[in-house]
Amino acid sequence: MRPAESRPLAIIIDDDDVTRMLVRATLLKFDFEVLEAPDGRRGLELMEAGPPDIVLLDVDMPGMDGFEVCRRIRDRWDATEVPVIMITGMNDVDSINRAYECGASDFTAKPINWPVLGHRARYVLRASQSARELRELEERQAAIVRAMPDMIFRIGRDGTCLDFKDGFRSKAMLPPGGFVGKSLSVILPPGVAAALARAVGHAIDRGEVQSVLFQLPMDDGLRHFEARLAPCGSDSAIALVRDVTAQKRDEERIHRLAYFDALTGMPNRGHFLERVDGELARARREDRRVALLFLDLDGFKRINDSLGHAAGDELLKSVAARLKENLRAGDVMARPTARDAAMHYARLGGDEFTILLPDVKDIEFVKMIARRTQSVLSRPFTVDGEEVAVSASIGISVFPDDGDDAASLLRHADAAMYHAKEQGRNNWQLYSRSLASRAAARSSLESELARAVKEGQLRLLYQPQVLAKDGRIAGIEALVRWQHPERGLVLPEDFLPVAEQNGLIADIGEWVLRTACRQVCEWQRAGLFAPRLAVNVSPRQARAPGLFRTVSAVIAETGIAPELLELELAEAIVVNPDEPFVEEMRLLRQLGVRFAIDDYGSGHSSMNTVRRLPIGAVKIDRSFVRAATPPGDASVTKAIVAMAQTLGLDVVAKGVETVEQRAVLQAAGCPRLQGYLFGQPVPAEMVEFMLRTGRTAGAGAGGRGQAGGRVPGSRQPLRQADM
Ligand code: C2E
Ligand code: MG
Repeated sequence: MRPAESRPLAIIIDDDDVTRMLVRATLLKFDFEVLEAPDGRRGLELMEAGPPDIVLLDVDMPGMDGFEVCRRIRDRWDATEVPVIMITGMNDVDSINRAYECGASDFTAKPINWPVLGHRARYVLRASQSARELRELEERQAAIVRAMPDMIFRIGRDGTCLDFKDGFRSKAMLPPGGFVGKSLSVILPPGVAAALARAVGHAIDRGEVQSVLFQLPMDDGLRHFEARLAPCGSDSAIALVRDVTAQKRDEERIHRLAYFDALTGMPNRGHFLERVDGELARARREDRRVALLFLDLDGFKRINDSLGHAAGDELLKSVAARLKENLRAGDVMARPTARDAAMHYARLGGDEFTILLPDVKDIEFVKMIARRTQSVLSRPFTVDGEEVAVSASIGISVFPDDGDDAASLLRHADAAMYHAKEQGRNNWQLYSRSLASRAAARSSLESELARAVKEGQLRLLYQPQVLAKDGRIAGIEALVRWQHPERGLVLPEDFLPVAEQNGLIADIGEWVLRTACRQVCEWQRAGLFAPRLAVNVSPRQARAPGLFRTVSAVIAETGIAPELLELELAEAIVVNPDEPFVEEMRLLRQLGVRFAIDDYGSGHSSMNTVRRLPIGAVKIDRSFVRAATPPGDASVTKAIVAMAQTLGLDVVAKGVETVEQRAVLQAAGCPRLQGYLFGQPVPAEMVEFMLRTGRTAGAGAGGRGQAGGRVPGSRQPLRQADM
């Protein structure tokens, strides 16, 4: 094709020189460029170089006649590419018919009307160009339609399907061919058909695109469709129908992710807060009270630590399910108004759940829900085949009394929940102003503790461990205290849980370890017997990576013999230890450090778990020691001692307070004892005195103030083998 801006090229094929000359003169006047050929063969040769925009072709020629030439042209170019005007004899109808059969675009009969010929050529040229453009347009549209995922329907105003085309990879709603000529009401469910028919009418009447969303039950379940209808002429509309099921599912999934807790399927924090806002707005208008219950499972962390996270997750799911089912059913029965059914639940994260009661007429109702929630959870859960008992502490805040917005209600319910925990768990507390000061106290404790660590307000006390057979000191346990500038000596139970929660425990633990190791080395340098040093490692310290690095660095820095160091781990940590932690334990064990399980028997560990880990000792929980003397009996203690010894473990009995307990433990073969009977936790100077004199500070054996009832020499060396 020649460039559009140049003049159109015409080729005249005619054996008559005069006719050619006249045609040429005419076409030049009509702004054509002109080439001439005296016969068909040369005409076709000219076209080889590039097709012209139009051909004027004489029918009657010697050799190849015009019909043949036209046929050959059509073999290569169609009428929109190269239009051909044939010049026939006067009113020769037969020739005219043949000319069209051969593919001519138009004809002119001799004698030629010259001015008309020029117009005709121009007209034919324009018509072929339009036809070409139309064809290209059609091709483009056909390509678009082919590539479209939509099904395309043409629907008449009366709702009849006039035309249908399946979309690219679209699954037809019904077998193809099944639509055309049928009414929508026959092929689609009545509701859908009516909606589409309405949209067809609107599209035609208003001349605007209409959109209809609908669902259809299909073999593989319910599918969603979107139809867009555009008017097409005065009596029909084109409907593009797309299967939007996947998109719909994605939207739903995104909504679920954004608004629901993935584990329990309960609304999440964001969702809950939105609902609280909504309910508060309504409550303000209707002058209602709204209660928010904040629920935290008691001891969940321990279950998580001892049974593993998967079991923890399973438990949370069961708790959520039970809350939803039982509570809702129960409460709707108790207060059968529609609003009660709208009680909202959420899981805020971890083991924290919330319940919103949107219409509280009487605080007794809220208390009843709290009690019921607790009783619903009091039946044991089965997790991983094991029965697990949980309880919940619940804090309650009420709008408008305890807060005007979602955030403050939540904060106050949380504070009340903490208070419930402090009251001994498994109980509920209403928020009261005094709790606000407690919450503030807690946060000031946190910041004070951070300062305490930096400013050296921590102190270490040491409690002796003695050999059961003769009462000689065999070891000491380092126990931390906080020398608070105003409050005096603060016990670990009052600040370690906070440190454990906010992460300060890492610094505290490292400080304890370093200080205690240094102390032992100092005694050693002073020529005193160096007892085995037990240091407590908190769960968070144990779980954080880098235990090996920290401990080995302290060993290197202080120069303590690693064999003297014993790290006490809570039982919960060893039940389901992470692999990296076990690896750190092995490395430390290789170094010579020993591990002991603290409060053995109080948790879920078994001797089997112990066997799999590099554990060197178990410390029997105080409760067993207490229960070992009448009216209790010593069977459990004896069994633990016996089992531990079969596994080659050292055993320490904790909390030995009376000579009777000591006697029972001696009889049970427990090698080491620790407790007030032999000495309370004391400062380093007093331990030094004990090490020099061999006397323990507390009531000695038989209450005579001496360890083991004998007075060893001022330097009482203990052979390492005794430890
Ligand atoms: P624990 O490891 O079980 O330490 C023994 C606790 O029992 C000590 O309490 C000790 O004073 C007390 N105790 C010792 N003998 C007797 C007895 O005969 N009767 C009774 N009733 N109690 C006795 P303390 O010092 O208050 O420590 C409490 C807990 O705080 C420790 O329990 C330990 O888990 C933790 N803790 C103390 N210091 C540290 C530390 O430096 N790091 C870590 N991570 N935890 C520590
Ligand atoms: Mg301990």
